[in-house]
Amino acid sequence: MASKRNQRRWRTGPTSAVSRRRRAVTAHRARRVLALLLIGIAAGIVLLSLLQRSDSLSASWLGVAPDSTARPFAKHIGIISGHKGNDSGAVCPDGLTEAAVNLQHALRIADLLRAQGYTVDVLDEFDARLNGYRAAALISIHADSCDNINAQASGFKLSSNAAPQSERLVACLTQAYQQRTGLRFHANTITRDMLNYHAFRKIDPTTPAVIIETGFLYLDRDLLTHQAERVAQGIVTGVRCFVNETP
Ligand SMILES: [Zn+2]
Repeated sequence: MASKRNQRRWRTGPTSAVSRRRRAVTAHRARRVLALLLIGIAAGIVLLSLLQRSDSLSASWLGVAPDSTARPFAKHIGIISGHKGNDSGAVCPDGLTEAAVNLQHALRIADLLRAQGYTVDVLDEFDARLNGYRAAALISIHADSCDNINAQASGFKLSSNAAPQSERLVACLTQAYQQRTGLRFHANTITRDMLNYHAFRKIDPTTPAVIIETGFLYLDRDLLTHQAERVAQGIVTGVRCFVNETP
């Protein structure tokens, strides 16, 4: 009897030690699996946030077709600084060029929009990025002739592409620009170059785009050069009107 009990005790001792070791091993494995799982989830979150930063990437990786209602470029604006990288545009007798005036406006508009949390591309007139360009809106900044044409050669005008949202972009910009600058809309001098603007043919057809002639370099020169802030504010206010109201 005593020897049997001893045997049992002898047997139960090592058996419980083994099971304790097994339990310890199992707990250790469970902790490792849990740790790996947490690392996996964290890596997944980082990857997703990286993908979301690049709209085009997330759209193509997730197999989502481009959809204007998804507003993937809600606060992404393209600004063409008219004639930049190509030619001077209109030139005044004292050497002031349209390209220089346009650049002053484009850079100020970009600064103001960036301060409002927008992503802005300042583009050359024939920028390679224009091919298939996608953004909430593209605005090309130009100014009119420096010739002393007549007393009517004052005011601004716009022409747009055929994207679904373009009409509203024109409406927002026209109203805001008129309000900020006091210039009138000069519709009867819209040229064929404005209607068939080269960038309209290059960009993605869903990107709303306009070309604006901010004023005439002769009669509106003071506004365009010494009050450039009003010009920039007019366009920025128009962009914000458009972007905030895009359904
Ligand atoms: Zn021009």
